[in-house]
Amino acid sequence: MKLRWKMIVLFVSLLVLLLMVQGYFVHFLRKPLFLSSLFGLMIVIPLAYLVAIFFTRPIRKMTEMAKQLAKGGLKREVDVDPEDELGRLSKAIGEIGAELRNRIEEISKEKDYLQTVLRGMMEGVLVVDGRGHILTVNDALRNLLSLSSTLIDKTPLEVIRNSELEGAIRRVIETGKNVTFELNLPSSGGKTFEVNVVGLSPSPEVTALQREGARGAITVFHDITRLKELEKIRQDFVANVSHELRTPLTTIKGYAETLLGGALKEEVAPQFIEIINRHADRLAKIVEDLLMLSKVESKEFYLKPERLPLAELINDVVGFVKEAAEKKKISILQSDVPISLSVEADRAYLEQVFTNLLDNAIKYTSEGGKVTLSAIDKDQKEIQFSIKDNGIGIPKEELHRIFERFYRVDKGRSKELGGTGLGLSIVKHIIQAHGGKIWAESELGKGSTFYFTLPQRRWNIGTIEGRPE
Ligand code: ADP
Repeated sequence: MKLRWKMIVLFVSLLVLLLMVQGYFVHFLRKPLFLSSLFGLMIVIPLAYLVAIFFTRPIRKMTEMAKQLAKGGLKREVDVDPEDELGRLSKAIGEIGAELRNRIEEISKEKDYLQTVLRGMMEGVLVVDGRGHILTVNDALRNLLSLSSTLIDKTPLEVIRNSELEGAIRRVIETGKNVTFELNLPSSGGKTFEVNVVGLSPSPEVTALQREGARGAITVFHDITRLKELEKIRQDFVANVSHELRTPLTTIKGYAETLLGGALKEEVAPQFIEIINRHADRLAKIVEDLLMLSKVESKEFYLKPERLPLAELINDVVGFVKEAAEKKKISILQSDVPISLSVEADRAYLEQVFTNLLDNAIKYTSEGGKVTLSAIDKDQKEIQFSIKDNGIGIPKEELHRIFERFYRVDKGRSKELGGTGLGLSIVKHIIQAHGGKIWAESELGKGSTFYFTLPQRRWNIGTIEGRPE
């Protein structure tokens, strides 16, 4: 039955009851009308109160239900007559509750997903609201900029202390137009970032008002420090190569023009041609070293390892530089070389390593000097080679740079001796490809010792060409 009919029936019943009590007191007990009405009310009022309690019970339950709903904890519907209005209202509230629960579950799932994405990102992410106050910051950004844990509701300026970033975020919120720029942040230890600020799409009311602007902004920080460094290395390399090639080319061109201008018939002609030839050789050497460097630096640089008896290998390489050493009356000694030992390495490249190091030792040692080559077995794990000279030595502050491409302590002397400044970088790459290390010790005026290691381990079985395991 509908609620309104229930109320009418009850109201009428209570009225009839009141009249009946009143009639009884007036007619049978001969009481005055006022007193009879009072008696009637005394009976009907408690009854009406009980009825009211009975009728408001579902309403109270529903109030409780709405409160639960607000807290998000609604579990079941209220047990009221499903046919009347209160029953339908209770059902509707139940449905709203279920719908709300589904939505909340969906939203929290999405939130979890988003948090996982943010946590897993290498890039730093900062999200601000429409006032430019921080809503969230991911772990990557916290680590990159060493941020404290209490950032929420602060402005990026307060937290990151960079006015350019703050200005960009404000502009995006105001105009709704995304921006990308490069930023150097001292708080990150001088890292360079590519920063993308993207506006969050405006709310429908703002769009309806045809106003520009965003509801907030997401800022993504890509760390491009390494990229910048590589770019700088590449630029320096190109500049160095051009410089190295230009000098012999200019000389060749100068002398060739002089010869063409008439000097060909003069006495100095053979001397000029000799200079041209020397510089052409130098050009060829630079190009050869550059090609070798690009080969050993490339990912496709593979070695052809074979077991090489040490004594034989060392005798061979000493033979290669014998002539140069004899010219300068430099003696090459061998010490501690374990005759029985062998090493697994690429013969051609290892020979190149020895030749380069011995060549340098001879080049940078005065006449009558001494070069000592030794090899030590280090716990059967690796062999440590050393090439020691008593030459000019290398200043301490420059020692860490000599393996860089084109780095030369004394440019003039190196060029004079036919050096390109690439030898040690090639050697370093070859040793590293073998799984070894290379370093140098030196004392200015007393001499230098170059050390390198080769691991005593098996190479990838079944591959002829490869890298050590
Ligand atoms: P370069 O072709 O100039 O010899 P390297 O790459 O072989 O180039 O060596 C780089 C620089 O390291 C040399 O120019 C020289 O200044 C220094 N150097 C290398 N070996 C020695 C050595 N044994 N004694 C002194 N200086 C050396």
